[in-house]
Amino acid sequence: MILLDGKATAAALREELKKDVDALKDRAGRAPGLAVILVGDDPASQVYVRNKERACADAGIRSEAFRISAQTTQQELEERIAALNAREDIDGILLQLPLPAGLDSQRCLELIDPAKDVDGFHPVNMGKLTLGLPGFRPCTPAGVMTLLERYNLSPAGKKAVVLGRSNIVGKPLALMLGASGPFANATVTVCHSRTPDLAQQCREADFLFVAIGRANFVTADMVKPGAVVVDVGINRTENGLAGDVDFGPVSKVASAITPVPGGIGPMTIAQLLVNTVASWKKRCGV
Ligand code: NAP
Repeated sequence: MILLDGKATAAALREELKKDVDALKDRAGRAPGLAVILVGDDPASQVYVRNKERACADAGIRSEAFRISAQTTQQELEERIAALNAREDIDGILLQLPLPAGLDSQRCLELIDPAKDVDGFHPVNMGKLTLGLPGFRPCTPAGVMTLLERYNLSPAGKKAVVLGRSNIVGKPLALMLGASGPFANATVTVCHSRTPDLAQQCREADFLFVAIGRANFVTADMVKPGAVVVDVGINRTENGLAGDVDFGPVSKVASAITPVPGGIGPMTIAQLLVNTVASWKKRCGV
């Protein structure tokens, strides 16, 4: 069984990005810049933002966090986004979700300049993904694909099952797996809460991707022997963090599996840096 080590892979990616940034910084005239907007004081979001700031520093990216009161108005938030859209030295804008009640996150996401939408959630970038055109890819599913590629585990010609159809994980992941290309070309089934006989669908998967937000939901009897299992879930339980996959028993059946923590979480942050550096290179012409 291969443990798909997202933590080590993400660290290697950050190191590669740092070399890239160091080599191009003089020609670009400045370091890459990422703006992170955090509204309110959700503790999990605060941790995510701190981790992103730290990862940026590691890779030579200048990050600016805007910590805004939960009492902010929609208009103030929209003005903040417009100001960041206009700034030359900002290559990426990330709006940390969820927003406090009363603020319209979809409207805010649509106001971010698609050329700075390093989270890949703008309809223009989602549309480009659907059409197979270049554009920013959402960080979590792109991080999944990068991890597979780094371990040389191609889903091409295989049956892939994705549990979950959210806009940020399941849906874009299904599109990436089913796209044409050497590390894609899978035959994809997407399952959700209304899928009958979910266990049987899972048992048919050569590659099983789980993003539903239910701790230890996928058990060993739901996994085909030798399958590659990618667990995107992050659930806070009384025993600490747990994935959506019952790791111990499933790891005895799978040929490769991601741990939680240390799997897709760090890959998601690394992908955000990859997108930010790509935006910087394009905007600075280096
Ligand atoms: P979400 O928006 O809540 O979507 C969950 C999806 O799972 C929905 O499509 C839902 O089906 C489906 N689902 C829920 N219960 C199910 C069940 N019992 N059987 C089958 N399908 C079920 O969640 P999300 O934002 O995609 O996140 C999913 C998990 O990934 C969470 O644990 C989250 O914390 C984690 N996550 C991790 C990262 C990371 O960096 N590693 C990033 C993002 C999310 P319906 O559509 O029918 O409701």
